[in-house]
Amino acid sequence: MDPVRVAVVGAGVMGLSTALCISKLVPGCSITVISDKFTPETTSDVAAGILIPHVYPDTPIHKQKQWFRETFDHLSAIANSAEAGEAAVHLVSGWQVFQSIPTEEVPFWADVVLGFRKMTEAELKKFPQHVFGQAFTTLKCEGSAYLPWLEKRAGAVM
Ligand SMILES: Cc1cc2nc3c(=O)[nH]c(=O)nc-3n(C[C@H](O)[C@H](O)[C@H](O)COP(=O)(O)OP(=O)(O)OC[C@H]3O[C@@H](n4cnc5c(N)ncnc54)[C@H](O)[C@@H]3O)c2cc1C
Repeated sequence: MDPVRVAVVGAGVMGLSTALCISKLVPGCSITVISDKFTPETTSDVAAGILIPHVYPDTPIHKQKQWFRETFDHLSAIANSAEAGEAAVHLVSGWQVFQSIPTEEVPFWADVVLGFRKMTEAELKKFPQHVFGQAFTTLKCEGSAYLPWLEKRAGAVM
């Protein structure tokens, strides 16, 4: 039987992640990524690449949390592997500050990231235009290195 042939359109983080995922799910398949731009010329190459979810009102929160947890665990495994340097996937700690109090003071993803907490008054004073903030550790993918790493691992024809 001929090997399964798959075409993925788009060579940003979505397309290349999809290609890699299919290559694992369908061993021996042939994958072609079709795109008008490739790394380093995609939007994904210039993204900060910090893993913080947005809320999508039409999708149940438990689904969004499941997807975020799976993504966090997947990228954590890369960050803890020998590939972390080449893939440029690392833990990053910081603050997210707000000019008004957010609707959800404790977001759905608070117990997925590491060390989530509300910022103290003393910390917030460093950000005079802001009234609320949270501190946590999440993951960061440097697109300019992560995309070439994905390309190599997907084994796709470009
Ligand atoms: C400055 C900046 C900072 C950001 N920071 C973050 C962040 O910290 N965290 C975060 O999660 N997100 C961030 N983002 C958003 C993030 O970059 C995007 O959500 C992500 O890159 C989208 O990936 P993608 O693969 O869908 O799209 P893209 O990277 O845009 O890739 C799309 C691909 O499809 C191809 N394509 C499109 N149309 C066609 C067509 N008609 N025919 C053939 N090929 C086509 C393009 O050439 C490209 O290869 C940031 C974005 C910017 C601009």
